[in-house]
Amino acid sequence: MADVKYIFVTGGVTSSLGKGIISASLAKLLQARGYSVSIQKLDPYINVDPGTLNPYEHGECYVTLDGAETDLDLGHYERFLNIPTSQANNITTGRVYQSVINKERKGDYLGKTVQVIPHITDEIKRRIKLVSSGNKFDIVITEIGGTVGDIESLPYIESVRQMKWELGSQNCIVIHLTLVPYLSASGELKTKPTQHSVKVLLENGIQPDILVLRTERNLTGDIKRKVALFCNVEEEAVVESVDVSTIYEVPLKMLDEKLDQTVLRKLALPIAERPPLTEWREFLKKLKNPKHTVCIGLVGKYVELPDAYKSIAESFIHSGAENECEVIVDYIHSEDLTEHNYVERLNGLNGILVAPGFGSRGIDGKILTVKYARENNIPFFGICLGMQCAVIEFARNVLNMPDAHSTEINHKTKNPVIDLMEEQKSIIDKGGTMRLGGYKCILDKNSKSYAAYGKTEIVERHRHRFEFNDKYLDIFKKNGMVPVGINPESNLVEIMEIPDHKWFVGVQFHPEYSSTVINPHPLFVQFVKACITV
Ligand code: GLN
Repeated sequence: MADVKYIFVTGGVTSSLGKGIISASLAKLLQARGYSVSIQKLDPYINVDPGTLNPYEHGECYVTLDGAETDLDLGHYERFLNIPTSQANNITTGRVYQSVINKERKGDYLGKTVQVIPHITDEIKRRIKLVSSGNKFDIVITEIGGTVGDIESLPYIESVRQMKWELGSQNCIVIHLTLVPYLSASGELKTKPTQHSVKVLLENGIQPDILVLRTERNLTGDIKRKVALFCNVEEEAVVESVDVSTIYEVPLKMLDEKLDQTVLRKLALPIAERPPLTEWREFLKKLKNPKHTVCIGLVGKYVELPDAYKSIAESFIHSGAENECEVIVDYIHSEDLTEHNYVERLNGLNGILVAPGFGSRGIDGKILTVKYARENNIPFFGICLGMQCAVIEFARNVLNMPDAHSTEINHKTKNPVIDLMEEQKSIIDKGGTMRLGGYKCILDKNSKSYAAYGKTEIVERHRHRFEFNDKYLDIFKKNGMVPVGINPESNLVEIMEIPDHKWFVGVQFHPEYSSTVINPHPLFVQFVKACITV
């Protein structure tokens, strides 16, 4: 194919309408029709990346294989498309300004006044085009974070306007996602907010090509016609997106609404046969018809905001479907667990996952949780800090080291079973400096992990500064907690297991980032399997 085609997805009326899911669903359909597609997210905030953000701000920080700390929407893109994203797929205003300012300091603009237009917009356009450099993709979908009308997103909207002008309407289209609220007092669906948000786009020089209307209730033909007329779009280009029980149904809804066909027609691309989406439908069938149910406790300190554990929650959906099992996730606040109540609170769970995290808040509750799972032979999965807690608990309660800790929390402990990695010791800056992205790990054939993966060499994504302190390797091994996964280059311990336990696996990496609908993560699949008590 000669040229890359661009689709921009903007949002109006409110945030949280699911632009990420609509973008991922459209991408899935285009992929199923034979196109290579990538998705990119532009975030209007000034942080250079979301790595320094508290999960309460924008939910989980998603990590790509190439080690970028990114927005959680990239997780949706990978879960839907089953292809990896990279640093180029997530841009923030901070990153854009950082490169422009660096260029200015180098003297690249010497003599010129550096301005939002053209310098910032040029940099935005450069980064949009970077995703498909070398024509890697037929189509790039770029989702613009926030809501039109926000001061922060203006340079992005202006860049879209320029790209539309430069590339022409057959190479660049805009899909605008809005809300059609239902007013119960009058029993009506209201289109005015949509009209207003389209007006805001028009004020910025953009006529949307397609409107996707989020709604709780089905829209009548009359409503679609009215929106089409008032917003100056074709009637077929008004697409309904009604609430569904799972995000994984959205691609099928969009297929019924012919969103993919409308997009391809507008981009002057051939429309192949309606894709069967066999594997996807198979997954949905299993998801909706479970034969088992398990309740798994997810113990973490950000549980008030489930988006903080988005990839873990989605991994349970994929692995649950694979096991034809409904996984009910019981979100448990680690700060609420005490010596007095933890047994009662954790009683009855079929499995326990201790979540990743940073800092000391809630750590004691996590350690108590590990103790409960270990002593009661409850399937246990520890991820990153969760694995580190498992090591600390084992040292304290089995190896008789009551003060054992991670130096992240107690740097004076006499038994630093978890310690700062050597290469981290000289690092001062917090942003982008952890051990990030994909690293190799070699598995011991005699382990639950090997049984899950079915191979000895794996690559998994990381996001941490602390590690298992290998001075303690022998004593752990001798007493029944063994390292079964090791990084071949650095010798860092990646996986700890208790072979005598029903299923006790702690991983230093983040398996949740690489679970997809088509490839549920093997460790999650085996964990859920172990939780199903037949
Ligand atoms: N805080 C721990 C570390 O930096 C664990 C990080 C995590 O759970 N992602 O090593």
